[in-house]
Amino acid sequence: MRAVLIRKHGGVEVLEIADLPKPRAVAGQVVLRVKAAGMNHLDTWVRRGLPGVTLPLPMIPGSDAAGVIEEVGPGATDLQPGARVFVAPGFSCGRCVECCAGNDPLCKDYGMIGEHTSGTQEYVALPAANVMPLPDGLPFEEGAAFPLVFLTAWHMLVGRAQVRVGEDVLVQAGGSGVGTAAIQIARLHGARVFTTVGSDDKAARVRELGADAAINYRKTDSLEEVRRLTGKRGVDVVIESVGQETWDKSLRALARGGRLVTCGATSGYRGETDLRFVFSKGLSILGSTMGSRAELLRVARLVGERRLKPVIDRVLPLERVADGHRAMAERSVFGKIILKP
Ligand SMILES: [Zn+2]
Repeated sequence: MRAVLIRKHGGVEVLEIADLPKPRAVAGQVVLRVKAAGMNHLDTWVRRGLPGVTLPLPMIPGSDAAGVIEEVGPGATDLQPGARVFVAPGFSCGRCVECCAGNDPLCKDYGMIGEHTSGTQEYVALPAANVMPLPDGLPFEEGAAFPLVFLTAWHMLVGRAQVRVGEDVLVQAGGSGVGTAAIQIARLHGARVFTTVGSDDKAARVRELGADAAINYRKTDSLEEVRRLTGKRGVDVVIESVGQETWDKSLRALARGGRLVTCGATSGYRGETDLRFVFSKGLSILGSTMGSRAELLRVARLVGERRLKPVIDRVLPLERVADGHRAMAERSVFGKIILKP
């Protein structure tokens, strides 16, 4: 089978299309024939390396996928060949206090397919627990587009910030995968949504998704615009995935008692925090990573009911994976890039 492989070449990580043996299902596993795989910023972090994390190169990236079960290993008896499924990308021990409390991403053994184990391309062998039924009628491309980003955005807004009807939410980078999900989830919970984007084209598209206002940060000062839109009050919740470039403005955009939720730092992780704002305005800074399996099932149901809609920027053949990495680095993407084996 063909797969995208990240390997070291002369001390540099390179992407290549490799021909690898098709995996077989061992006990408790299934082999998934991937029909569509979703790209994530995580793939680019895996390619560039993560600080403090030694990855077992060479490896196959990719955390999101949807497809058909090809082979069922011994013990995975509740699953049938031919079933349409999507990949639940997280895994954890299932026995510790955090797992039992439904906080699986806080398990000390929490890992991600495509980061801690080989990812999802053409064929992948997975624990049976890591596939979930694809909602009826949902195309494979959309099944590969929603899990990681919608789960991330759901846990940020619902699990961590506990967004409520009538609140104001600022979504930084509204055109990103997490951004397009967060706009829809915040709206679904009755919030007013403002979002930052890097072009007028993206501004029009986030409004179509339900954003009440789009702020082109290349043209206007996003902080002044938030103050104008909220009558100087600020927003109740900020959804942060950009990091260094936007951190200070995100904190200053908050109203008294506001909550900033961060799930990532695509522009760098050294955000500067003026502590006076934090204590005098009673702000909360909340970290968030992925979400629970229960939350993923809830999100899948809402996607299946078409109340949440995965946003696909483009579908590329597997061979053009490097174009996908480039587009993400250039921020010329709206929503998700999908690879087709
Ligand atoms: Zn655990």
